[in-house]
Parts: sequence; C-alpha cells; structure tokens
Amino acid sequence: MLEVEAVSSGYGPVPVLRDVTFAVPAGTIAAVLGANGAGKTTLLRTLSGLLRPTGGRIRFDGAELRGVRVERLVRRGLAHVPEGRGVVAELTVEENLRLGGLWRRDRADARRAQDEVYELFPALARRRRHAGHQLSGGERQMLALGRALIARPRLLLLDEPSLGLAPKVTAQIMALLRRLCDDRGLTVLLVEQNVRSALSVADQGVVMSLGRVVTAAPAARLRDDAQLRHAYLGF
Ligand code: ATP
Repeated sequence: MLEVEAVSSGYGPVPVLRDVTFAVPAGTIAAVLGANGAGKTTLLRTLSGLLRPTGGRIRFDGAELRGVRVERLVRRGLAHVPEGRGVVAELTVEENLRLGGLWRRDRADARRAQDEVYELFPALARRRRHAGHQLSGGERQMLALGRALIARPRLLLLDEPSLGLAPKVTAQIMALLRRLCDDRGLTVLLVEQNVRSALSVADQGVVMSLGRVVTAAPAARLRDDAQLRHAYLGF
C-alpha cells in the first residue's frame, strides 16, 4: 500500500504540490488525472526521490520513503518510467534491458528477469538486436516498461505511457498493467492525459488541479457519473 500524506514539493522556491494526500492499496492501479501543469509529473518525481518534498509523508508497505536515496528506493521495489521513456536510442533492446538490471549482483537472476520481460513482450524478444531508434513508439514504450520491470518492482510509477501511441497499442499496455497487478500484486500509479483509457484500467482516479488533489474516487464512479466527470474532468 502506498500512502501519500500532506505532501508538498516544488522546484527550488517554487511550490507546486500542496498538501497532496491519497492512498493506493497494494495490487491496484491509481490513475492520476488533471490538466497540463496540474502537478502530475511533479508528483511522480517527488515519490521516486528525484525531487525532495518540503513536507508530508510518503509510505510504502509501512516504510517511510521520504528522504530515501533513489538507489535505495529501487531496492525497496520502486520503479519510475518517466515521460519520454528514456530508452537509449544507440543501444539495442537487449542492452537497454541489461541497463535495467545492472545493479543486480546475481547475474543469473538478472538473466532470468530479462527472460521474464521477453515473455511479457514477445515483440521485444523478436527485436532484441535492434537499436532503440529502430523501434516504433509502442515498442519503445514497451522497452521502457520492460526495463523498469527487470528490477521486479512492487510499485510502478508511470508517466504518460500512452503518449503518441495508437489506441490499440495503448490498450495492450493497459491490459498488461492490469495483468501485472492481478497476477503479481504490483501497485501502479499511472499519470495519463488519456482519461478514458486510464479509467478503463484503473481502480481509482486521483484528480489533481493546481498542485492539489481535488478528488479521489473509484474509477468506475468517475467513468459513469456524468456530474463528477463534468466537474473534475471537463467532459
Ligand atoms: P503535464 O501534463 O503538462 O506534464 P503536469 O500535471 O505533469 O502537466 P507538472 O509537469 O508537474 O504538471 O508541472 C506542474 C507545475 O510545475 C507547472 O506550473 C510547471 O510550470 C512547473 N514546473 C514543472 N517543471 C518545472 C521545473 N523543472 N522547474 C520549475 N517549474 C517547473
């Protein structure tokens, strides 16, 4: 379970997040929604230790994450796939995946983790010797996701995985996230502009505006209640 309590954060003296509070039960998906500039990316950066919160608490499975260094967060089971994906264009699929497992001391285990990723994404297995720049947008997103999964995370933070992807590919990625939650108990925080596809897979929607959480509600309610949708999501 991820618990975010009264978190504030920003860039230097510029405050962005104010008093952000919500919780994500283990094995579920929370979609973080809201207009451009609402603070969604800042929230992910703060949770993954890239930005230092100025206040509040961040707990995962009861342990405090605030102030813990990024490398330690990875060992505690947190993975962050940033917007833009961070695939190294000059390296092959295989080399990119290896980067995700570099910190592992046990080589055989790193290899097993890599094979698991190829099982999840057969398309990547077929392209293992292709360079990052030769991949389609969907394949690059799968590679970024696969590289994060090499660490066998328990908490996955994903920034705009559907950006620039065809609806069919987006649907595949959402279905895979659902499977990882249901089968492995993965907990996911998903930042999405694509509200419909996010709510189709998420258990919960956390709607942000101007650095605050304006509502957190079951995804089904946000999807089906026209009044709520209109008030918070503008459609
Ligand atoms: P988007 O969907 O456009 O990425 P977002 O909801 O993710 O929007 P953030 O990127 O978190 O929003 O931005 C929140 C606020 O923080 C905005 O006002 C933005 O201008 C500001 N901001 C973002 N990055 C920086 C930065 N590196 N330095 C200073 N301010 C920033």
